[in-house]
Amino acid sequence: MATEITLTDQFIDLEHERGAHNYHPLPVVLDKGEGVYLWDVEGKKYFDFLSAYSAVNQGHCHPKIVQALQDQAQQLCLTSRAFHNSAFGPFAAFITTYFGFDKVLPMNSGAEAVETAIKIARKWGVKKKGIPQEQAQIVVCHGNFHGRTTTIISFSDDQVARKDFGPYTPGFISIPHNDIKALESVFSTNKNIVGFLVEPIQGEAGIFTPDEDYLRNVQQLCNDHEVLFIADEIQTGIARTGSLLAVCGNCSCESSCLRQPDTFAAPDILILGKALSGGVYPVSAVLANHDVMDVIQPGEHGSTFGGNPIAAAVATAALNVVKDESLAQNARKLGQLFRNAMNEYIKNSDIVTLVRGKGLLNAIVINDSPDSGTAWNICMALKENGLLAKPTHGNIIRFAPPLVMSEDELFSCVDIIIKTLSTFEPN
Ligand SMILES: *Cc1c(COP(=O)(O)O)cnc(C)c1O
Repeated sequence: MATEITLTDQFIDLEHERGAHNYHPLPVVLDKGEGVYLWDVEGKKYFDFLSAYSAVNQGHCHPKIVQALQDQAQQLCLTSRAFHNSAFGPFAAFITTYFGFDKVLPMNSGAEAVETAIKIARKWGVKKKGIPQEQAQIVVCHGNFHGRTTTIISFSDDQVARKDFGPYTPGFISIPHNDIKALESVFSTNKNIVGFLVEPIQGEAGIFTPDEDYLRNVQQLCNDHEVLFIADEIQTGIARTGSLLAVCGNCSCESSCLRQPDTFAAPDILILGKALSGGVYPVSAVLANHDVMDVIQPGEHGSTFGGNPIAAAVATAALNVVKDESLAQNARKLGQLFRNAMNEYIKNSDIVTLVRGKGLLNAIVINDSPDSGTAWNICMALKENGLLAKPTHGNIIRFAPPLVMSEDELFSCVDIIIKTLSTFEPN
């Protein structure tokens, strides 16, 4: 009897044969998306619980963002910045006002924006702090994830990301995350530090939320030692953690959350990507005030596509959706409900150790070795039951649905997750 080759198998085989093997995807081939839902090529419907690593906060194919893309695409797509275009200036004014900074430098991917921040910080160190050439140091955290370029993997401690890709870029010092003493110590022993690059909540590492006062203390220490506080909010920003930015702390961002002195840990450089695109078209951005951003002069940095008209239109629409649909508040409310439901389950569970996170950036830790296949097998079973999630670091499963989810939909998802986990309980 000939075994039937499904459409899914055909697409996966083609990708495996002709695409580089730089990812290990779950074996599902997606074909359509709308809001919190995805459909595969067989027509099966799923809840998306990854949101393309938090790039799709506004939900799949949001009509207003897609419309902005279509409208701009029919008018003007790309000029490069050899010339001015009529979309970038208004976008720059919009995004800087939205986040409360003087200036923006637009790029495309997250990693490029991180590279941009590194270059700005180094040059700022030379010009404003008088650090000798090629001596600037940037402090980063153990377990960081900032992207995949040669320089960025140079200060990663993930051996998979790093091994065999040397020689590495020098100029980085790594300390533990959420350790203000370690930061103080490195600041007071090294006079060449120009920046502290940090994820406010470590995403890829497994959703590690620092102590409540950590980021405010970071800001204070950076200020005291004349070091730039560089917040990588590529994953945590744009409403994901229940505030417009994770550095907003517990401010609910109803109105002018930013710069509320009692909650806001103001970064000197803010790095955005992922959901700035609305999950539609790659856009990243680096925001800073004049004194920092003005160190960059013509010819010193850029990208052919950075600040292109489509990106400007898409990002503007994506940020408008976040405010118009109160996505931060929704993430905050649903996140609390989600963790409550999971904690209730965990009380009597042997397979799940804990749930942690903030807003709708959460993870559960599976009670098995990171080398075991258990978290992967749970994700496979979740897929069968109509929900897509992915393990990170072996035994951790990240749960990050689009922020446009309703309470009813969230409870349907909780049912699927609990029903699936139950089948993995011993006995
Ligand atoms: C995803 C991510 C990046 C890299 O973004 P790309 O668009 O994949 O290059 C950088 N920093 C953080 C915190 C991220 O989550």
